[in-house]
Order: sequence, then C-alpha cells, then structure tokens
Amino acid sequence: MTIGVDDDESAFSRLEDNKGLAESWLRICGRLKGEVGEVEYRTWLTQIALGPIDGDEITLLLPTRFLRDWVRSQYGDRLNELWHNEVPALRRVELQVARPGDPAPLQLAEVAASPVGSPSAPEEQNPATKPVAEVRSDLVTALDSRFTFDTFVVGKPNEFAYACARRVAEKPSSVGFNPLFLYGGVGLGKTHLMHAIGAELVRSGNVSVAYMSAEKFMYRFIAAIRSQSTIEFKEQLRSVDVLMIDDLQFLIGKDNTQEEFFHTFNALVDAGRQIVVSADKSPSDLSGLEDRLRTRLGCGMVADIHATTFELRISILEAKAAASGVVVPAKVLEFLAHKITSNVRELEGALNRLIAHANLFGRPVTLEATQDVLHDILKAHDRRVTIEEIQKKVAEHWNIRLTDMSSARRARNVARPRQVAMYLAKQLTSRSLPEIGRKFGNRDHTTVMHAVNRVTELMERDAAFAEDVELMRRMLES
Ligand code: ADP
Ligand code: MG
Repeated sequence: MTIGVDDDESAFSRLEDNKGLAESWLRICGRLKGEVGEVEYRTWLTQIALGPIDGDEITLLLPTRFLRDWVRSQYGDRLNELWHNEVPALRRVELQVARPGDPAPLQLAEVAASPVGSPSAPEEQNPATKPVAEVRSDLVTALDSRFTFDTFVVGKPNEFAYACARRVAEKPSSVGFNPLFLYGGVGLGKTHLMHAIGAELVRSGNVSVAYMSAEKFMYRFIAAIRSQSTIEFKEQLRSVDVLMIDDLQFLIGKDNTQEEFFHTFNALVDAGRQIVVSADKSPSDLSGLEDRLRTRLGCGMVADIHATTFELRISILEAKAAASGVVVPAKVLEFLAHKITSNVRELEGALNRLIAHANLFGRPVTLEATQDVLHDILKAHDRRVTIEEIQKKVAEHWNIRLTDMSSARRARNVARPRQVAMYLAKQLTSRSLPEIGRKFGNRDHTTVMHAVNRVTELMERDAAFAEDVELMRRMLES
C-alpha cells in the first residue's frame, strides 16, 4: 500500500517552484518569530538560509557550527514540525553549516509587519531593496549568545576593560571616548567583551551594530571590489551606530584594507558614531600599522586586559562550573587554576572536557579523574619542577614563610610543611638526599630521609593529610 501519494505529489510540485518554498519558509519564520520573540528571532533565526531538498528532507544552512548546534538544540524539533505542517511530504529538517557559495538567508524584515502566519509572502524580491538588505545582513556577524556581560567574570586584570565596555554598551552615543581600544593576549576575553557590548545594544534596541573580525572586514572589502559594490559596502558600514572590529592586528601588512578601514573609521567618528577595536597589542606596539591609523586608534580609550591571576582563574572556573550544573570539587578547581595559567580559553576547554566526561559517564569529578581525563592537556603544561618551586608552593599552601623552609625552627606548624616539601622534592626531582638537605638550610641527608618516611607514614594514617599532599604533588608534578 502506498500512503499519501496525492499529498506527496502535490507537495513536490509545489516544492519545485522555489517561490513556493520561499513563501513556506517566510510563513514558518513568521510563526517562529511570534513564538520565540523578537530578540531570539533576530539573534538566531535570521541567520538561517534555505538549502536544497532531497526526498523528504530539507536542508537549512547556518553560517557557523556553533549556530547550527544551537539552532538544532533549541529549535530543531519545532522546525521539523513547522516544515511538516507546511509541506507534509517533508519529514526531516537537516541543519548544516553553509559553505562559500551557498544561498544567503532571505531577508525577513517584512515579516514583522505582516500578521503572524499571514499567507501573503513579503515583498522580499523587490529589486530596489534587495542588495541593500543583503549587505546589511552581512555586516552583523552572529553574536555568540554565551558572551554576555553576565557571563563575564570580572577581576583585577580585566576590570578596567570591562568598565569601558559596559560604558559603551550603555550609552554608545555619549561615551566620551572614541574609539574604545581593547587589547590583550590571546584567550583573555576581548571577543567576549565585544560580543557582550553587541548583545546589550541589540537588547536595548534601536541601535544598529556591526561586529566583524578584521579578517572578515578584509574579505568583505575584497568581495565588494570584485562585485563592484564597494560603494554599497562603504555606505552600509558608515550607516551603523556602533562598529566593532576584532583582532585588528590582522590588518598589518594589508595596506589597501587598512586604508579602507582608516576612511571608514574617520567617517564614523566624524558622524559621532562609536567604534570599538580589539588587538593583541596596544596601538603604539602595533608597528606594522600605518602611522596615521595608529595615532587615531590611540586617541580614544585604550584598555589593557592583563594576564589572569590565580584568583580570577578560580572565579571563572567557579562560575562556569556552577553554570554547568556539575559538582566540581574546590580542590579540582584549584588544581586547574594552578596548572593552566596560559589563558581563559584553555582553562575553559579543560573544565568543559571534565564536565562532558562527568555527564557522559555519570561519575563524580575527582582529582584522579581530572588527572586522567586531562592527561594530554596537563602534559602540555608540564615543566620541570625545582626544589625552590616546591618550597614556595608548599609554604603558600600551609601559610608559612618561605625562609622557614631553611630555618632551624622546629614548631610543628613549620616543621610539618617543611617535611612535606622534602618529601615532594624527593618524589618530584632527581636530586639526591644530601642535595635536598642542602637546599633546606644545610640539613643532613638523614633528616631528609626521616621526613620522607614520616610523611609517607602520616599519609597512610590521615586521609585528609594525604589528600593535601597529593594535591600539592599534582600541582607540581612534571
Ligand atoms: P580573546 O578574544 O581575547 O582571544 P575570548 O574573548 O575569545 O578571548 O575568550 C576566550 C574564552 O574565554 C571565551 O570562551 C570566553 O568566554 C572566555 N573568557 C575569557 N575571559 C573571561 C572572563 N573574564 N569571564 C568568563 N569567561 C571568559
Ligand atoms: Mg578574540
């Protein structure tokens, strides 16, 4: 028995004409917009482009993997349903990442004006409005919804940059400094702050924002030259209220693009619009940039994001662990914050892996599991540990003075950590007992041996103590 032949045929004859498909899509978008609200709709769903149909499956295209996954997890089922309602022959919606040359998203601005689910298709084919609309959508690179002010953890190293970013997001027209120039090493939160500014402005409405990496800026500029649409490109860029260009260092050595950016920059500043720029170095250190551009970049507010401190790393880990809903013991967080000091991206990556692992296997996160799961990451961060480092870390942990590592004081609260440090020196370095003894205030090798035995013994008897020493060992281990 064949089911629904009639249905299928009529559906496919409709599908053959693209206009019908576009109309269906517009109706679906209208519905979705009503269901999810303006902001969600604008942030996520305007990015979707129609792809090909194959059998009972329609493909929808998204510009990035992140967006695809997000749309799939948040709207996948609903999209399936809505498409099936529109075109009963369609049983599956496939979400894919768009490749160069794939169709661009339709412009759905008009859907807002027409009643939800209205059967009449908006006039998006209007030749007069089309090219403009296309360039517009191009300017607004998708904002990552995870990067907001709420999810940005503020600490000493980034508080100034954060405050400046907030300021721009609140009152872009009267900030008093232009541009805001954010700089700092890789993975320290520059892009996060820029997206946060964008998200805040989009939420507050009636401000047009363009965010793109310098690389994308160049790519679009070149594409505009090729398609002889540089005038539109320039006009579009110069019509925004806030322009944000990320990773400006990319423009070093790209003279034409720099020139174009310089003019855009001036035009916007003259028109009283706000510019936010990020780079890996301060304007004065970006030596490959043209002098006049460098000078202008330095004229506004220059905010440095410094390397993270241990405290900030802990706060960030705590926030991210809490948001994940997985219980991560404080000892594990401390361990990570000690071990992974390079940047927040790596720190976050390590924590995410732990969390994914815990979710997947339903096992609690422990120090042992951490060591296991992050084996490769930790190895990359390993270095040879020295006796001096051991003494320093142990002294910090037990809150004694570093000089007490070599002092003659015998009080238990000093002697015990000193013994632990000797024990760790034996475990983690290839130094001989006499050598270790010398580093601890010229003590005899038998003293070191005694310390090693004493700590081993105590660890067997006292689980809490053992755990402390273990933690130290893992932190220092090479
Ligand atoms: P950059 O652009 O400076 O290279 P990103 O903004 O891409 O760095 O940050 C890298 C990752 O670290 C992102 O996932 C971001 O959310 C996270 N991150 C950086 N700084 C913070 C912070 N202060 N609080 C929370 N997350 C942060
Ligand atoms: Mg970045």
